[in-house]
Amino acid sequence: MTIALARRYRPKRFADLLVQDHVAAVLRGAVARKRVAHGYLLTGPRGVGKTTAARILAMALNCPNQDPSGDPCGECENCRRVWSGSANLDVVEIDAASNRGVDDARDLRERAMYAASQEGRYKVYIVDEAHMLTREAWNALLKILEEPPPRVVFVFATTEPQKIAAAAAPVMSRLQRFDFRRIGPAAIRARLRQVLDAEAIAADDDALTLISRHADGGMRDALSVLDQCLSFGEGAVTAERVREVLGLVGDELFAEVLELVAERRPAAVFPLVERLSSAGADLAEFMGGAGEALRALLMLQLGNEPEGLTEAMRQALQRVQGRLEAGDVLRMLRLLTETEAAIRRSTNPRLVVETLLLRWAMLDRTVDLEQVLQAGQRGGSSAAPLPPPAPPLAAAPASPSPPPPSLPPAAPATEVVEPSLEAFRGAWPDLVAEIRGRSRFLGEALAATSPSALEAPWLTVTLAEPNPLFAERLQAQAQAVEEVLSRVSGRPLRLRITESGAAEGSPAQPKPRRMTEASIKADRLRTFRTRDPALDTAADALDLEIVD
Ligand SMILES: [Zn+2]
Repeated sequence: MTIALARRYRPKRFADLLVQDHVAAVLRGAVARKRVAHGYLLTGPRGVGKTTAARILAMALNCPNQDPSGDPCGECENCRRVWSGSANLDVVEIDAASNRGVDDARDLRERAMYAASQEGRYKVYIVDEAHMLTREAWNALLKILEEPPPRVVFVFATTEPQKIAAAAAPVMSRLQRFDFRRIGPAAIRARLRQVLDAEAIAADDDALTLISRHADGGMRDALSVLDQCLSFGEGAVTAERVREVLGLVGDELFAEVLELVAERRPAAVFPLVERLSSAGADLAEFMGGAGEALRALLMLQLGNEPEGLTEAMRQALQRVQGRLEAGDVLRMLRLLTETEAAIRRSTNPRLVVETLLLRWAMLDRTVDLEQVLQAGQRGGSSAAPLPPPAPPLAAAPASPSPPPPSLPPAAPATEVVEPSLEAFRGAWPDLVAEIRGRSRFLGEALAATSPSALEAPWLTVTLAEPNPLFAERLQAQAQAVEEVLSRVSGRPLRLRITESGAAEGSPAQPKPRRMTEASIKADRLRTFRTRDPALDTAADALDLEIVD
């Protein structure tokens, strides 16, 4: 195989442009109706077909066998020369990254004045990396575009249109602009499969998934990785070979990481990192992969379907999905973001990775709190004493004996057992710690209280000593506390604040708010987002919707 795949399989007709149908339709129509503009601006990420589209346009304009729909034939001498980028009188390709000077611009201006080589043909200038042109060059181009010679077409391609907007707004306003889309992993996979079929080469699905994930929206990159894989070994393209070529860490390892976190086995971190290290893995790349895995896990937990997973990864995620809370996964992502910058600066990246994995494995879980309360529920419903996971009941002796928990009215099909006041008391320090993690002051205020009565949906907490500041804060942010209470007890709960010695419920109650399952979810999400900017970013990245 001598010709690179990316080149051999470069589209020759508008119809073959992957994903960019919106661009193809307009350009083809312009050619067919002979209403081609003098200037086009093609923008979009690397490797999505901008230059290819420019070449197809150039081919179509001068193709003697032009299709009535506007597509070039792709086979004639003209088409072949343009397509292969060989010398051509009427199509000039300029790489702005190396032709930036004012002299080139002047030259360009002079050359643009010459008509095409033959009557009836178009002169096409394709300017790649157009954002690299100097202001002087743009000024020269502006003069040309203000009074464009007939049958001269400029096509500018760029990954950074904002730079052109800043340097040459008047030129930009004279260009017809097309924004090229990233090519999704599924489309890239399908195209790779097509190419491999045409080459009669077998490949694992997982191999193509890894390549498409790595290509990050660029078809050209995907094909050149495939090229490297093909030159690297004989026979079918396997996931293993792709990993070797790309220096990727095996998904099995990410699966192991998630398992050890879910099972809280910090001791397993050291041998795992040792293996990573001795295999010569790029630790920054490992962190990136771990982030991808967490993101996919979070998507699964929130009911989305993550794309581009290998089978091994999909199975691993399904195994841990129910064992980690979405909130914990977000916290892990946050820790990861904090660490990612550190690993590039660190002289000891191995230690950075170890620390991160240890922090994950020792994460103070929201799930623990739930377990404690659920255990409390079980304890309350049977005669059994409180189970061991509950924290010591230090506050209990001083408190008055609690009223027995009432059963919920009109119990649904499955039996719902009311969490007991004891369970709340036992879990109070953890609950306070969680609230403190969100708001230090609210946490302080809550720490000064203890649960004194439970009458669903009301949980009454009593301030040991009168403290107007604390009482005020607790009232104002009762919702944040209620959100945690509701989550850990699995049912909507409201917070009532009293001061010791005061008549119960004497402070003004917050306006009752309808709490549905959906509103609780929305509140949780909102809390996650407000807790930390990094989480907010994660939520944005995941396109989580906040329902108001
Ligand atoms: Zn042709």
